[in-house]
Amino acid sequence: MALYDKTAHELRDLLIAKEVTATEIVTSVFQRIREVEPQIQAYLTLTEEQGMEGAERVDSMLAKGETLPPLAGIPIALKDNLSTAGIRTTCAAKMLGDYIPPFDAFAMERIKKGRMIVIGKTSMDEFAMGSSTENSGLFLTHNPWDTQAVAGGSSGGSAAAVSAGETILALGSDTGGSIRLPAGYCGIVGLKPTYGRVSRYGLIAYASSLDQIGPMTKDVTDCALLLQEIAGHDTRDSTSVDDPVPNYLRLIQKGVKGLKIGLAREYLNDDIAKPVLGAVNDAVKVFKELGAEVVELSLPYSEYALAAYYLIASVEAGSNLARYDGVRYGYRTIEAVSDARELFMKTRSEGFGTEVKRRIMIGTYILSSGKCDAYYRRAQQVRAMIREELKKAFQKCDLILTPTAPTTAFKIGTKINDPLQMYRADICTITANLAGIPAISIPGGFDQGMPIGIQLIGPAFQEGVLLRAAYGFEQATGYHKLRPDLGVEHKNTGDRSRERRLI
Ligand code: GLN
Repeated sequence: MALYDKTAHELRDLLIAKEVTATEIVTSVFQRIREVEPQIQAYLTLTEEQGMEGAERVDSMLAKGETLPPLAGIPIALKDNLSTAGIRTTCAAKMLGDYIPPFDAFAMERIKKGRMIVIGKTSMDEFAMGSSTENSGLFLTHNPWDTQAVAGGSSGGSAAAVSAGETILALGSDTGGSIRLPAGYCGIVGLKPTYGRVSRYGLIAYASSLDQIGPMTKDVTDCALLLQEIAGHDTRDSTSVDDPVPNYLRLIQKGVKGLKIGLAREYLNDDIAKPVLGAVNDAVKVFKELGAEVVELSLPYSEYALAAYYLIASVEAGSNLARYDGVRYGYRTIEAVSDARELFMKTRSEGFGTEVKRRIMIGTYILSSGKCDAYYRRAQQVRAMIREELKKAFQKCDLILTPTAPTTAFKIGTKINDPLQMYRADICTITANLAGIPAISIPGGFDQGMPIGIQLIGPAFQEGVLLRAAYGFEQATGYHKLRPDLGVEHKNTGDRSRERRLI
């Protein structure tokens, strides 16, 4: 098996045993990128030079016998809404097309401290608004299992890169499902931690009360290892929680036996495609065989989650995106303007894409006088009710099992002109964001060659229980070991589009 196909923990073992060097690992990943990136288009920016330098540093530390952090020398890709000092950070937006942040996000600081090797910045929907990366202001990402299908969004670049072997680890952000949905579509593991578990410092804001950063990996062990590295308190994010971070790697070993798994009928209805329902039923059987107990639940407020989410997220987006005015930073119109107002208007009308404008308009409309009580306040009330409903559910079970998405990855172009259809891809993922609780998507089977994601939702700060159940399931099924076949016929296609994206 090629090095790029291995997991972080496998590579770590090889590094420690001195069977490979970090330089060999990073070289293998960049070689893979050269082979498959023309078909996948996962990266907006590649950082090969810095990556190779970082790998050499790790190798010299190893040669000197220095103790290394657990993920030292392991390649990682970052979604392009995480600020990286000196490395272009675009949010896949024309508005930030040339933006080079002067500082690192908290997660990036941890990556540097952990001596992981940054491979590049991954593609996404513009400002993380979308479910397919088709809203990218730059270009869309293709699903490695079927390049005619979407990779999912908004962290589609990170998911596709992990799945295609173009990185070993990745980070994404999840406001309404953007880690879990693409993880499900691309057959990898994606975890949205509890709100407050990972500092949002340096994450370019979409909807601040919902955004969370999390790991996207090939298996659950890697997910536990990466969460361990990025979790923790940070005074620069006032919503970051000062609670001790448990040892996740130890927790995953505890087994599934005795866990109570909730099944809610609201997540298992006609909205969900038959093969996906089949995979959920199979997963239930696996969990039962592993000694879990299944509890029936009812979560009637889930029905209102999608509407509440898109109202709240749009309001927050409208407010967060007000900063892009062509004055402080980012894109500015080159047309002649007669006053500041015209400068703002022209800049924003040229700089934002269709979906981002739609969200800003919805958000602004909802906050206008007379509409605020009818929409925004009610959406917040629904959010509180959903949170309470889930809290009660967790008195009866340890975690809730649902599909990650109603279908497998859909074909490119099939939903982009119908925003409501696109929003419906999120029906299973958004409640966890509204409630601020953790949820993970793990590979749960295939339908016609396309991966199916299974979601586990847990109570606040119980990432350990999620990882433990996910690990048990993964070991029993082995879906995570399957890799998409991208062939070698695309090797050296002479595609030059990639070069423009290299910094
Ligand atoms: N699809 C959702 C949206 O467009 C979720 C996006 C996300 O999690 N960043 O808002």
